[in-house]
Amino acid sequence: VTAKIIDGSAITSALKQQTADIVRRINDAGRQVRLDVVMVGDPSTGAVYARSQEAKCNEVGIGYRLHALPTTASQDDIAQTIATLNGDPAVTGILLNLPLPESIDTPAIQYQIDPYKDVEGVNPANIGLLFYDTPIIAPCTALAVIEILHHVGIDPKGKNAVVVGIGAIAGRPIALFLQHELATVTTCHIETRDLASHTRQADILVVAAGQPDLIGADHVKPHAVVIDVGINRVPDESGESGSLKTVGDVDFDAVSQVASAITPVPGGVGPVTVAILLRSVAQAADAQRGPRRLAP
Ligand code: NAD
Repeated sequence: VTAKIIDGSAITSALKQQTADIVRRINDAGRQVRLDVVMVGDPSTGAVYARSQEAKCNEVGIGYRLHALPTTASQDDIAQTIATLNGDPAVTGILLNLPLPESIDTPAIQYQIDPYKDVEGVNPANIGLLFYDTPIIAPCTALAVIEILHHVGIDPKGKNAVVVGIGAIAGRPIALFLQHELATVTTCHIETRDLASHTRQADILVVAAGQPDLIGADHVKPHAVVIDVGINRVPDESGESGSLKTVGDVDFDAVSQVASAITPVPGGVGPVTVAILLRSVAQAADAQRGPRRLAP
């Protein structure tokens, strides 16, 4: 077999269109869609990232404001910034750029983001609602994996799905989503014995472990669909000395010979996740126009 290579960028164009349509509808109703990003730390390292975030927002008509706090900002300073954004009706989405300095309790700050403005779906209220398949906003990476499966015409219903990695932002929500889609889901992690014996059962194999080359051809059932969520920076032997390249968790060349479809890294899950985030920003603004299921 030679696998179909799933082009993440091709999937993003439909998502961008969907997002631009929602934004236009909200603008026509006299409201703006605005993403406010809170960044803590050295502005010189975060600035490039922030500029790229802003450009992506502007492309689909979303306004962008950056709130850069110094490395010395306290827990209270950050919490106060979030509270101000929660209370400002002009702010329709809030995103907290990570990592925060080590002295800061990150989950405590994430808990404070209004669940209706929590565009990354990191507030426990949203994670909890995901358990019931009714999140206000779901985590972007998990949404991206499901979007990709649907795009390539894979219905998870009744299929064996194996998720490697049970991290809170990737593996665990992905497994929940696949359960909601009525796949038979197995989750594997660092303590799983004989990983290959589980992954070889998978019709759909999703890998989110952060370990380059964790999954080789022997781990994959012929004709399986393989979604590689991992993002790892490793030395680039073919580049200049000391240069790095980005790879996933799957040995792409080997697994391409076994799977029926596979996402590359870079260019697979990553760009779809960004496009889903922007759609979530637009959908969040839309949801704020209707009645709330949760008290603010
Ligand atoms: P995490 O550290 O929270 O979780 C890693 C998980 O992998 C853990 O459950 C761990 O038990 C498991 N694991 C680690 N080594 C393993 C091994 N040898 N065998 C089996 N399981 C193993 O990390 P995370 O935040 O969930 O991220 C995982 C990867 O996904 C990272 O590479 C991250 O960069 C990437 N990621 C990508 C996106 C995206 O949009 N593409 C989004 C989020 C995370």
